[in-house]
Amino acid sequence: MNPMRFAVPKKGRLEEPSTRLLQQAGFQYERGERTLAVPVRGRNVELLLVRADDICELVTDGVADLGITGFDLVAESGANIEVLAELGFGQCRLTAAVPNASDIAAIEDLAGMRVATSHPRVTGEFFAEKDISIQTVPLRGSIEVAPKLDVADAIVDLVSSGSTMMLNGLRPVADVLSSQAVLVRDRAAEQMDEVDAAVTLIASVVAARRRKYILMNAPQSAVGEIRDLIPGFDAPSVVPLADPTMVAIHSVVDVDAVWDVIPQLQAAGASGILVLPIEQLLL
Ligand code: AMP
Repeated sequence: MNPMRFAVPKKGRLEEPSTRLLQQAGFQYERGERTLAVPVRGRNVELLLVRADDICELVTDGVADLGITGFDLVAESGANIEVLAELGFGQCRLTAAVPNASDIAAIEDLAGMRVATSHPRVTGEFFAEKDISIQTVPLRGSIEVAPKLDVADAIVDLVSSGSTMMLNGLRPVADVLSSQAVLVRDRAAEQMDEVDAAVTLIASVVAARRRKYILMNAPQSAVGEIRDLIPGFDAPSVVPLADPTMVAIHSVVDVDAVWDVIPQLQAAGASGILVLPIEQLLL
């Protein structure tokens, strides 16, 4: 049987976090310097190490059965691609920006202007939806210099912190699209067991990263209050200790809640609190 082919980014911003995700999900492989296709140990799966921009095409052409790429690239491809999961890294925004000195204050002021972008399809659709007529100037790379070179009056480019835009004397006017890395396949592709297994494993890692495992000791009398603070999935585990007035409590909390919940647990009487990472989580 042909192996399931899984296209993942080599080079670029998405490479390192994609590799870490695959390793955490249990994909074992050795990557050579120049190899394009790498077998996954013990599975009928082959990784195709390719550029993030090529992944949508490989998936729609049927060369790859599954892929990891940026949502912005999926939107820009306009292809019949299904987003199976958001992966929680590669977060960025496609943002419209103008030179600091420009009179443009709102998106409507861009009517009739030249807008340089690496995402002409998404940009075109965004302005068309708002009934604002612009001229897109498709560019690849270094889009932020286009206004200085008088190639464009404004740009639509990817930003994460916004510092590159600021350094280039540009000011944001509006967000066009939010993006992060996503797991994708062709919507028309046939069902494949290895694809389903890979999606489940990867989703379990993404779900695990959003939570922490939390353990503590507490007086038996504090169990009710602590249960309300950290309800977990069904209820926390409460384990007896050798001291009959005390128990150990185990639960799972959202990563974002950890900071706030720890002082509340301490105030409720918890001690010896441990916060541990979770490798994989299947709900
Ligand atoms: P690459 O060109 O291979 O580095 O990959 C670019 C992809 O990384 C983009 O399509 C986005 O999905 C993602 N990305 C995340 N943050 C940024 C950023 N600040 N600038 C550009 N791309 C970003």
